[in-house]
Amino acid sequence: MNNFQYSRAADIADAIRLLAGDPDAKLIAGGTNLIDLMKENVERPSRLIDISRLPLSKIEQTADGSLRIGALVPNSDLAYHPQVAQRYPLLASAILAGASAQLRNMASVGGNLMQRTRCAYFYDTATPCNKRSPGSGCSAIDGLNRNHAILGTSPSCIATNPSDMSVALSALGALVLVAGPAGERRIALTDFHRLPGDTPHIDTNLGTGEIITAIELPPRGFALNYSYLKIRDRLSYAFALVSVAAGLELEGDTISEARLALGGVAHKPWRSLEAERALRGQPATAAQFSRAADLLLQGASAASHNGFKIELARRAIVRTLTQAASATPQSQARKKIA
Ligand SMILES: Cc1cc2nc3c(=O)[nH]c(=O)nc-3n(C[C@H](O)[C@H](O)[C@H](O)COP(=O)(O)OP(=O)(O)OC[C@H]3O[C@@H](n4cnc5c(N)ncnc54)[C@H](O)[C@@H]3O)c2cc1C
Ligand code: SF4
Repeated sequence: MNNFQYSRAADIADAIRLLAGDPDAKLIAGGTNLIDLMKENVERPSRLIDISRLPLSKIEQTADGSLRIGALVPNSDLAYHPQVAQRYPLLASAILAGASAQLRNMASVGGNLMQRTRCAYFYDTATPCNKRSPGSGCSAIDGLNRNHAILGTSPSCIATNPSDMSVALSALGALVLVAGPAGERRIALTDFHRLPGDTPHIDTNLGTGEIITAIELPPRGFALNYSYLKIRDRLSYAFALVSVAAGLELEGDTISEARLALGGVAHKPWRSLEAERALRGQPATAAQFSRAADLLLQGASAASHNGFKIELARRAIVRTLTQAASATPQSQARKKIA
């Protein structure tokens, strides 16, 4: 039994003050990841700072046409929000591909961005894990690594980021709005999560005492030609082996703008500007999609059990781009049954 303090933050400034004042304190929003990790003894916070009642649950359009989404908006409300379903269906599809309806009702936007890896060794406190216990070693590198990363790995950690939402946000060019002891700042989603390097215990570039207050989606939503494809061991309620978020803008059969990001393959959503550049100005054909897949997967390398992911990702990229180009997305956000 680990004792911990519980505080309900009165406002954002109070949350920042409590968080900055105790390096072992943790924010709690929906609790769907943090509580599991506490039960497994992986997370042992000295204090829980409950932010669930802070006024961060609004979705509003900004003056320049962007969409600002509060950090406490539940994942399900976000996916079914009319502006998201109509303008950013790629994001809605990615969210609805994750977890279960019950979990999505509890899970917050901020918590989804901050959720931790699903590497089984990270959860198993009887095994070495550099992410859980820095310097102890990585059990996955010579262990069961079928679900692990093929891009951006390091000798310290080959874990993947499990968030579906983040993959779509990366492709859409979202910004993460944060507030902390030094004020407010914006971080591009693509710079928010980190590669493991030799500090795999640090998942993100959030600074000490900083809290996510919102995310912001730029006006460009790729609402016509998009697809989110999630490949997993069973059809629902499972994390991605490989996922692909694709958004295209077409002029006739020619690609004028392209966005492409992968999930389930790296410590962060994997996006390559080079692959996107290579698609622009090209016809929307299988040959061009294949070329983009090669660029996106440049440098991919397998551990002992996950070599299949490289070919799986290659095929998934081509399939997702084909679906996006023909405006037949893998899945669409449907209206919630009243
Ligand atoms: C069985 C199961 C299946 C799942 N399947 C999927 C799936 O397929 N795809 C998928 O993407 N996800 C999946 N999830 C994960 C789920 O999406 C996350 O648990 C959820 O999004 C976390 O949100 P939360 O609000 O509950 O976070 P919490 O558990 O409250 O917090 C998680 C972390 O985020 C931090 N945090 C929370 N809010 C903020 C903030 N505003 N600023 C800074 N830090 C913050 C907390 O301190 C904590 O470290 C699954 C979860 C479960 C339990
Ligand atoms: S892959 Fe990362 S999370 Fe998994 S055991 Fe190795 S260090 Fe830990």
